[in-house]
Amino acid sequence: MDFHCPACSRLLYDRKRKSCGYCGAEIPAEMPFSAAEIEKLAQEMKELDAQLQALREKEEEERERQKAAMDPLLFIPPFLP
Ligand SMILES: [Zn+2]
Repeated sequence: MDFHCPACSRLLYDRKRKSCGYCGAEIPAEMPFSAAEIEKLAQEMKELDAQLQALREKEEEERERQKAAMDPLLFIPPFLP
């Protein structure tokens, strides 16, 4: 799992280190994700967003359909012989 220094972007071999072995920059403990992991998470969020969006559109479509069915002006009575 890659972990890069936020200051010099060099690969850090030891994530437990408090500072970068190259430039000495402090490594924030609250930075548990590497750039690749963040990108992966962002991608997952995007996919989730797309799924939610599709669901919302489907719901909207269903609502419109029901609204149309309830609308007396749009209501077409069944053909009676
Ligand atoms: Zn560094």
